[in-house]
Amino acid sequence: MDDFLYTRADRPETAVRLAAQPGVRFIAGGTDVLNLMKDGVERHEHLIDINALPLSGVREAAGRIELGALCRMSDAAVHPAVRGRLPVLSQALLASASPQVRNMASLGGNLLQRTRCWYFRDASMPCNKRQPGSGCAALRGQNRWHAILGGSDHCIAVHPSDLAVALTALDATVVTHRRRIPIADFYLPPGDTPHLETVLRQGELITGIEVPATLPAEISRYLKLRDRATFEFAVVSVAALVRLRGGVVREARLAFGGVAPRPWQSPEAEQALIGRRLDDASIRAAGEAVVRGAVPREHNAFKVSLIQRALQEVLR
Ligand code: SF4
Repeated sequence: MDDFLYTRADRPETAVRLAAQPGVRFIAGGTDVLNLMKDGVERHEHLIDINALPLSGVREAAGRIELGALCRMSDAAVHPAVRGRLPVLSQALLASASPQVRNMASLGGNLLQRTRCWYFRDASMPCNKRQPGSGCAALRGQNRWHAILGGSDHCIAVHPSDLAVALTALDATVVTHRRRIPIADFYLPPGDTPHLETVLRQGELITGIEVPATLPAEISRYLKLRDRATFEFAVVSVAALVRLRGGVVREARLAFGGVAPRPWQSPEAEQALIGRRLDDASIRAAGEAVVRGAVPREHNAFKVSLIQRALQEVLR
């Protein structure tokens, strides 16, 4: 690992001022960024430790739950407000990583973790995300874990965050020191600039996440399918929030992980459910809508049926 400067910030204004320069990055739990630095995938001249900032905790406000950016994943997962009112979020957090990592990792850091594409994490391989213009080794390489939706000719990596998928279904808002960003607008599509992953600017500090918590949903569930039962990223995942009236779907919010470069939304799938009973026909129609336009690669065509079956499992 290259040498770097380290500063512990005790006030948000200090952290933001120091991080305004290129080459500076915030660090909280450090569960991703330090590995990337050790492997030579990322280089930062200066790390600003933000752990002393007053940005942790969970707060219930009128109609919403506010999660501090520095709240640890394990704390958020078991908070009574999250467990009781947002089960899909608690389940997504508990399905993430391992207990040890969840004890360290912050919510804000989780949203910003980098892809697990093995070519991205191997500094000797071509990768447009790590080194713009160098090519994408995954397009013709081992792409079992890669995207079937929303990719580009420049990158087909998937975003690894379970939390981001659940927050997308919940229509959450990412709050920074200068603005509020709907999570649907937070992640950028890869296009021809896959190295640009979010709309955050240099030195912009995530301070929290706001989640609407209005009516309880009859279905509030996160299902993650993976190669082993723990400490593993999703092959596919589904976050679903469904409200019923008289057995008919009144509201449906769906988001999908492991299939796209950012949490994948399918308004068509939601519309296939709304106003209908949750039966085989409507669930099948929703599944077909999710994968419309999918572009499977050599090793990941199985995801086309797997994501539909995962949705069926959640809705049934
Ligand atoms: Fe890099 Fe994206 Fe291609 Fe993976 S899929 S090698 S992250 S450009």
